[in-house]
Amino acid sequence: MDDLMHNDPARVIEADRAHVWHHMLQHRALETSDPRIIVEGRGMRVWDITGKEHLDAVSGGVWTVNVGYGRERIADAVRDQLVKMCYFAGVQGSVPGARFSEALIEKMPGLSRVYFANSGSEANEKAFKMVRQISHKHHGGRKSKILYRERDYHGTTIACLSAGGQMERNAQYGPFVPEFVMVPHCLEYRAQDGLAGADYGVRAAEAIEEVILREGPDTVGALCLEPITAGGGIIVPPKGYWEKVQEICAKYDILLHIDEVVCGLGRTGTWFGYQQFGVKPDIVTMAKGVASGYAAISCCVTTEAVFEKFKDASDPMAHFRDISTFGGCASGPVAALENLHILEEEDLLANSTRMGAYLQEGLSQLMEKHALIGDVRGMGLFAGAELVADRATREPLAEKQVQAVVADCLRQGVIIGATNRSVPGFNNVLLFAPALIAGRAEIDEILA
Ligand code: PLP
Repeated sequence: MDDLMHNDPARVIEADRAHVWHHMLQHRALETSDPRIIVEGRGMRVWDITGKEHLDAVSGGVWTVNVGYGRERIADAVRDQLVKMCYFAGVQGSVPGARFSEALIEKMPGLSRVYFANSGSEANEKAFKMVRQISHKHHGGRKSKILYRERDYHGTTIACLSAGGQMERNAQYGPFVPEFVMVPHCLEYRAQDGLAGADYGVRAAEAIEEVILREGPDTVGALCLEPITAGGGIIVPPKGYWEKVQEICAKYDILLHIDEVVCGLGRTGTWFGYQQFGVKPDIVTMAKGVASGYAAISCCVTTEAVFEKFKDASDPMAHFRDISTFGGCASGPVAALENLHILEEEDLLANSTRMGAYLQEGLSQLMEKHALIGDVRGMGLFAGAELVADRATREPLAEKQVQAVVADCLRQGVIIGATNRSVPGFNNVLLFAPALIAGRAEIDEILA
């Protein structure tokens, strides 16, 4: 904490208040309160500039720091790499890029190629561009539509928002990119009229097929889904859903693109969320947990079959004509490789499964005691508790009251999350995604 004094907190707060435009913040709030500035982290704990300690139950706010704070071996590896070779454009290869790709692909049977980028949004943009280029090169411009799901989120760029199923995030940023088409969500707790009932999972997937038939199968190139919807309310697809989705994609020759930006790298207890459901994707995108926030790196990973579509030496337009200045820049894959080794050596996937079960069980017990909790869902160290004003009608708790719960936890020194105003009327889910190093003591503290 000595460093804090040297940093002169009052000056830092003044500079922040005067010049920083915070993400997702209504700045009017800072007219009556100070910005919260996080200055230090160890394990699952962070300290803010006032010296207050917090237990972080959301891994850096947006489910990113999977291996926890203060990992010196990642910092050391990045430092050594930067001194040796900091950067060269991605048309060339790099030692960390090759080593990390090999290690990553080992965890992803059926996939073989890694395309580097910097953020989840960017990785998804790469995937969208691949689908479009395949459409032009191999389908005469047909199969260019991309389906996305209500409540899923794929990023902040205009194309990603065009594939965004969370209305509040999209409002005021249109017009959007054409040929992105929405399919219905699969949250059983709020099942749509006509789909509710036994076999909801299969019916929700069949609703995707209906959209494909309505649009025309030869117009649809890809289906982009989160394995478990994250910010849209922790929606674990129900039984039968994924099997049917896979079948539909095969039937209509549609590429299955899974967005693992949140679930990737152990969050749910397997390396990737799709592996929980036995899914075989064609394209997988990932970001947050890839280097646990120690470097900005994301990846768009594909099968060899997708990669092969871009190989035609006789056509100067056949290769993937995409570039990202910092994509794969040496510090990213170096940090990612160390991160992967930590996950493996410390058996953090198993811990996610074990401690995740403990967290879900604790939340279910809370639900028995408190009528305010209408539903608990999740997988591994990734959980949501949906708050309701009335259990019988399932009327969502008002957002103000949900935010009051989050603020109360914060006052008590625990940082939790909540769905934002992304889906009007559904912004009522408390979110928990602690680092994968969490033990019983930390989970108990969060639950308390
Ligand atoms: N995909 C999902 C599922 C996400 O949750 C997010 C961000 O939260 C993104 C993509 C976008 O990632 P980024 O913010 O790194 O661009």
